[in-house]
Amino acid sequence: MGVLMSTLNTEVVAGWLADYAQTIEQNAEMLTDLDRQIGDADHGSNMKRGTKAVAELEASEFADAAALLKKAGMTLVNTVGGASGPLYGTFFLRVAKALPADGEISAGQWGEALRAGLQGVIDRGKASVGDKTIVDALTPAMDALDAAASGGAGVAEALDAAAKAAAEGRDATVDLVARKGRASYLGERSRGVQDPGATSATLLVESAARTLG
Ligand code: ADP
Ligand code: MG
Repeated sequence: MGVLMSTLNTEVVAGWLADYAQTIEQNAEMLTDLDRQIGDADHGSNMKRGTKAVAELEASEFADAAALLKKAGMTLVNTVGGASGPLYGTFFLRVAKALPADGEISAGQWGEALRAGLQGVIDRGKASVGDKTIVDALTPAMDALDAAASGGAGVAEALDAAAKAAAEGRDATVDLVARKGRASYLGERSRGVQDPGATSATLLVESAARTLG
């Protein structure tokens, strides 16, 4: 099964974080536009500020991938602001805690670590699937990752499956009524718009699929 493993180290994780920052920068206007329709028009700028600060972290200054991800989480908590800052921050802090030591990593191990991140978002924000939040993208993503890993997929293949599932979950938020966060104040009027957080969360999983496999 060695061929199915991929490498975990600070460089690989820094590559993920840099790719995500670039992707957020490219999509910031779109994210803010979605948030303008069902929130307060700041999700793109919030995420751009936070991911830029994370991308400026110097990978070589960290002992291992977990240490870099821990700092990334704290940086997001301190810079993103809004509801999403603590949620994304907690995601990365929990992923950091659940990661194995640097070296070879399997799809199943990435699945466990990223699932721990999702659980952190749920513990912190108390959202369930169907509430029109980040959780609606991350939950199907982690389910698909686990299924792929159980079926013997390698890291790249499993993360591709996760990214596809995240995008489907994101698309399904259009028809949902928000039950958490600012958009929930709109009630029925939140229906018909794609959730900004589910959109940025899908970008995160897509970024993982491009860089971690
Ligand atoms: P704010 O709503 O404070 O302006 P942002 O605009 O940065 O924060 O983020 C909004 C996104 O945060 C929403 O689209 C939603 O996906 C996500 N969100 C809000 N509350 C929660 C929650 N309790 N659990 C999970 N995600 C949430
Ligand atoms: Mg907002």
